[in-house]
Amino acid sequence: MKSEKRLDAVVIGGGIIGAMAARHLLAAGRRITIIERDHVAAGASAGNAGILAFPEIIPIAAPGVIWKAPRWLLDPLGPLAIRPAYAARLAPWFWRFLKASNQRHFHHAIGVHTALMRLTACEYEKLRDDETLASFIVKTGTLDLYDSATTIAAAMPEWEHKAEAGARFRRVGRAEIEELQPGLAPQFAHAFFSDDGLQIADPAGFTRAVAETALGEGAVLERAEVLALAPKDDGVVLLLSGGRTLAAQNAVVACGAWSRRLAASLGEAIPLDTERGYNTTLPKTAFPLRRQLYFNDHGFVVTPLADGIRVGGAVEFGGLNLPPDYRRADALLTRAKGFLPALETEGGTQWMGFRPSTPDCLPVIARSNAAPGVIYAFGHGHLGLTQSAATGRLVAELAENRPPSIDLQPLRADRF
Ligand SMILES: Cc1cc2nc3c(=O)[nH]c(=O)nc-3n(C[C@H](O)[C@H](O)[C@H](O)COP(=O)(O)OP(=O)(O)OC[C@H]3O[C@@H](n4cnc5c(N)ncnc54)[C@H](O)[C@@H]3O)c2cc1C
Repeated sequence: MKSEKRLDAVVIGGGIIGAMAARHLLAAGRRITIIERDHVAAGASAGNAGILAFPEIIPIAAPGVIWKAPRWLLDPLGPLAIRPAYAARLAPWFWRFLKASNQRHFHHAIGVHTALMRLTACEYEKLRDDETLASFIVKTGTLDLYDSATTIAAAMPEWEHKAEAGARFRRVGRAEIEELQPGLAPQFAHAFFSDDGLQIADPAGFTRAVAETALGEGAVLERAEVLALAPKDDGVVLLLSGGRTLAAQNAVVACGAWSRRLAASLGEAIPLDTERGYNTTLPKTAFPLRRQLYFNDHGFVVTPLADGIRVGGAVEFGGLNLPPDYRRADALLTRAKGFLPALETEGGTQWMGFRPSTPDCLPVIARSNAAPGVIYAFGHGHLGLTQSAATGRLVAELAENRPPSIDLQPLRADRF
């Protein structure tokens, strides 16, 4: 094996988390190499719904979730599914998830997400200084729809938490719903509307643009797969596919749902799994969509993108290797057609993506305990696009040994 000269900082993974980390490390004066096995925006960062979900501070691991899950699981193409071939492997993760679904952790996680969301909202405001990046951020407003007075009443405590955290929204009835988004099925008479809702108009294009700003300022992109990490002196050695090794002062693990293996190579068992999500991107002409629509009782969203309308969401546990089951994307589209009767469902492109998910619904943003030169930045689940800007900043603060902008104790790698 041939070893090369020691690099300064390597970011492993060219998703939105890696791209933001590279941007912030460059700003801190570091020399950056981004290592991506495929291409920039090859993973979840490409096909997500594009929502800057700053008010979404409520963890899915919530008291009572255990009673909701069986109802959802009964419908094989419903909003939550476990692929039978994966059920046994999921069990330890699921057990941890259930343990995290208690009042104490619920309130703790709300506090942590509130801090992360405040920081990330500030960081997104700063991104507006860059004309290209600013052009991706659009204000569409958010309509959170419920099927009935009963379901919106059940969701009230969540909205109270969001209000306490500073989110601005108001309850709207049928007449106003029809004004805000004409064409919704009459059953939707209960919603919350937020005029503040922001959207990234093209998540893949945005990820590429963030990476390009880093590359334009001197970062280098290398195509390779990192197979393992090992501590060396005060830095780290990376084993790449093909047997090559690289030495670096710092390595940031930003491999999304695939990060677990690299942490394991350092002897750190982090219970990262994936919540697979599905969507269909329809032509822009498919429906006169005015804003983000959340169908909260059905676990999916419809969002307006620069070049289409994206219909998707749902959670499927099936690991990283089982093939996609696109009947899920079909099922979401059929449901969307029921809710938006004029929706033209032809001509769409289907996609499946791997959300990187921890059982306590908090990311890992921390130095490795086994190799202090390694910084973990993964596990953002449903919120990685949103929290990427904060994560980039926090990674740079960790690398530079600066006091972190928020308390990082809850995000450490050994908390599980
Ligand atoms: C259906 C769906 C909808 C979503 N909607 C939203 C939303 O509206 N708002 C929001 O905030 N979030 C949303 N998310 C979540 C968000 O997309 C993810 O949290 C985020 O994209 C994760 O980014 P990442 O950079 O960690 O991972 P990824 O984007 O998956 O990037 C990881 C990269 O690492 C590379 N890689 C992996 N292993 C290696 C290796 N060993 N060596 C080299 N390279 C490697 C991969 O090729 C990939 O490019 C959604 C996710 C899904 C699936």
